Amino acid sequence: MPLFACALCRQTRSPFKAFCGDCTALFAVVKENLGKVGLTQLIDALLQTGIAKEKVKVFLEADQPGRGSVLDQITATLTNDLATGIGVKECDMSALDVQRIRKNPVFGSSTKPIDS
Ligand SMILES: [Zn+2]
Repeated sequence: MPLFACALCRQTRSPFKAFCGDCTALFAVVKENLGKVGLTQLIDALLQTGIAKEKVKVFLEADQPGRGSVLDQITATLTNDLATGIGVKECDMSALDVQRIRKNPVFGSSTKPIDS
């Protein structure tokens, strides 16, 4: 591992920054588009940067200690926006909730019985 490794992709970064140039550029795209577009469009915008698809995948899926992955953070934001949009109050899903469900889908099951 390089002496100064990017917190996400582990490639060499500047000693003055937490992320490498690619991840910084990808973060800027996420910041600019989050809450404005859906997940597919957001991924398209990330790929339009010209950064390799594999690198975009690493950027989205790398787990940050205590924060979940970038994709978890995006999913949490989109879920909260969607819930608010359909009138669900006090939906406050965090990236760590998403991470927990992703790692163990049993947490995603409904606690309510299905009545038909
Ligand atoms: Zn990086």
